[in-house]
Amino acid sequence: MHLLNPISIKNKLQFIIIITSAIVLLLASTAFIVNDLFTFRRQMVADLFVLAELVGINSTAGLMFNNSHTAEENIVALKANKHIIVTKIYSKDGTLFASYFREGLDQDSLSKHLSVSEKYFRHNQKKQARDKIEESFFFHNNHLGIFKPIIFKNEIIGIVYIKSDLDAFHERLFWKIWIMGIVMLVSLLLAFFLSLKFHRTITTPILNLLETMKEVSTDKIYSHRAKKTTDDEIGKLIDGFNDMLAEIEKRNIALAQTRDQAMAASQAKTTFLANMSHELRTPLNGILGYAQILLQDEDLKETYKEGLEVIQRSGEYLLTLINDILDLSKVEAGKIELDPANFHLGGFIKEIAELFKMRANQSELYFTYKVSKNLPRGICADEKRLRQILINLLGNAIKFTPEEGKVNFEVDYYDDKIHFKIADTGIGIAENELKHIFSPFQQVGELNYRKQGTGLGLSISKELVEMMGGKLQVKSIVGKGSTFWMALDLPVVSHKIEEQPVKKPIIGYQRISTEKDSKSESPLKILLVEDNKENRSVLRNILKPLNFEIVEAKNGIEGVNKAYDCLPDLIIMDLIMPEMNGFDATRKIKKIPELQEIPIIATSASVFEYHREESLKVGCQDFMPKPFGEDLLRLVGQYLKLQWIYKETLEESSIKNINDPPSEKSPDEEIQSSIKLQTEQANHFFILSMKGDITGILEFATQIEQSDAQLTPLANKIRYFANNFKVKQLRKMAKKHFEV
Ligand code: ADP
Repeated sequence: MHLLNPISIKNKLQFIIIITSAIVLLLASTAFIVNDLFTFRRQMVADLFVLAELVGINSTAGLMFNNSHTAEENIVALKANKHIIVTKIYSKDGTLFASYFREGLDQDSLSKHLSVSEKYFRHNQKKQARDKIEESFFFHNNHLGIFKPIIFKNEIIGIVYIKSDLDAFHERLFWKIWIMGIVMLVSLLLAFFLSLKFHRTITTPILNLLETMKEVSTDKIYSHRAKKTTDDEIGKLIDGFNDMLAEIEKRNIALAQTRDQAMAASQAKTTFLANMSHELRTPLNGILGYAQILLQDEDLKETYKEGLEVIQRSGEYLLTLINDILDLSKVEAGKIELDPANFHLGGFIKEIAELFKMRANQSELYFTYKVSKNLPRGICADEKRLRQILINLLGNAIKFTPEEGKVNFEVDYYDDKIHFKIADTGIGIAENELKHIFSPFQQVGELNYRKQGTGLGLSISKELVEMMGGKLQVKSIVGKGSTFWMALDLPVVSHKIEEQPVKKPIIGYQRISTEKDSKSESPLKILLVEDNKENRSVLRNILKPLNFEIVEAKNGIEGVNKAYDCLPDLIIMDLIMPEMNGFDATRKIKKIPELQEIPIIATSASVFEYHREESLKVGCQDFMPKPFGEDLLRLVGQYLKLQWIYKETLEESSIKNINDPPSEKSPDEEIQSSIKLQTEQANHFFILSMKGDITGILEFATQIEQSDAQLTPLANKIRYFANNFKVKQLRKMAKKHFEV
């Protein structure tokens, strides 16, 4: 039956109906024909006996008087029956008395007929006493033969033997089969046409059900119902299916409600986290900003410096925590995205390794790192996220390794993959706890170690590694240490990628622009539109010492007015402010023709991606998240087309070039240098330094630079001291030049 499996129900039904009808018809017709033929054969035998009886009666006289001639004349009359082949009359003792043979019998068959009947007759005679000979018949080789005793006055006086052919029988058989064939054909045709008509009563409801099933599975609309047309088993099947749909629909509604509630809760959580993060980042901006500004003061007492470093580290730690919590909610919402860019791999690893070497020294750990020479020069990846992963793994290694332990950081490149391995000889992780450490908020091992973290780092790192196409793996033995490793298939960048210069403090700027317009030497003007006093103060104190003129506005309206009044070179625009927010203020500024060209950098402590997108849409050139990090000077430099002057550049140049101004620590050397200020200049410098007129000194630096290009390094140095308010050093310098 499995052959029928792929066939449709409609065809199966037709097939079954036709086959069943054919079998039934065949059986019925066969039974009918067999029965008919048996009856016919019986009739043939009976007829032949009647004929033999007649022959016997007619031959009685001949037999009695031994006159075979009369008997033969008598049986010739049998000629009228064309099926009679042979008729013989035997006398009681078995001798042939008279016989008749159908005309046209050849000699061969004649002798055959004779011998058969003779043999049979003798056989019968032997079997039975001669006076007990009974009538009998036999079918042999398409013939029917009968023996009938001739009885006269209750005594057997002879025997009649008649042999007939079976042509009548065969003819009948032939016709019966013919008729049966025609009847079968007609019946099967009828069955086929009827099945065509009636299969619908079964298939239509099934097809309806199938159609509804298809709709439900493709559209996922569980309110569909299959139409019930019958009350039979199919009707019950449809009822069952509809009940099932109703149940699914009910559950879906319940599920949707639960999902909506969960989504609302999740949305509330995200909003809460985002608002919370905004509120936390804003004061952190002040803390980190000022820690950074104050740490630049070289006159700072060592104890204050240490305190400030503690403030900076704690602030940075807090910021990491806030970022981790936000990242986790992004991971949960599947919203985390990578932002790949090309960077120098060696420089990147060195920077991280150096950072951890320093940290390890502080914790009295032995930190080693091995970077393979095969490493590709440049790769394309999300540098920030890769740093986040490595900082987490290296941070953990240091955190969970007691003093005098070892931490090893290895980076290798083979099989087209970058292999990172971080191994420590720390406290290790128990086998049964290994599977938990990648889940959020999971901290394992001793309690006193757990205090130093949130248990979020590894789950975020694992997610990020997977997004980068790798797998973060771990093996660990309690008390012996742990090893974390991953292999990342990051695209290698073939063109030259420059190593990022080591970060040095920026002390001033030069414009790249070649045009020497009147404005080119005056300080560049930056308008800060920011409602938060602390943030304005941080920005002012970072930018002003670098020789920028700072104009401040407390909200959007004031921002637009001040922009119009003072035509700044750049605007830093907070987005969320009272009265008029940064979006509206930017829109307004961008509509004023005189202000249109001024680049605007949007800034916000908000973590909502749409704030960034919206700010770019309204016309801001860029977006800078709070707290301000390296982005601030990078963006300011980029939009004002500046070249930064670094602290070391100045010191390095003073070592390399004897003509440069002497360093602050060896003022005598300055005097020995061949580049000296003219007396007038020296006097002016001296007076300004005594007065502590920083603005005047900055202007003076510009003047001497303009008068003689060779004085540029000296001017830079003066500018640096002036920007950092190092009046003492300025006075020392001025005095030396004045005294010469
Ligand atoms: P956190 O370090 O903030 O607790 P992580 O997600 O980075 O969170 O780590 C989860 C936990 O995994 C840690 O609390 C610590 O129990 C275990 N762990 C991670 N790294 C190591 C390591 N190098 N040695 C021992 N235990 C570790």
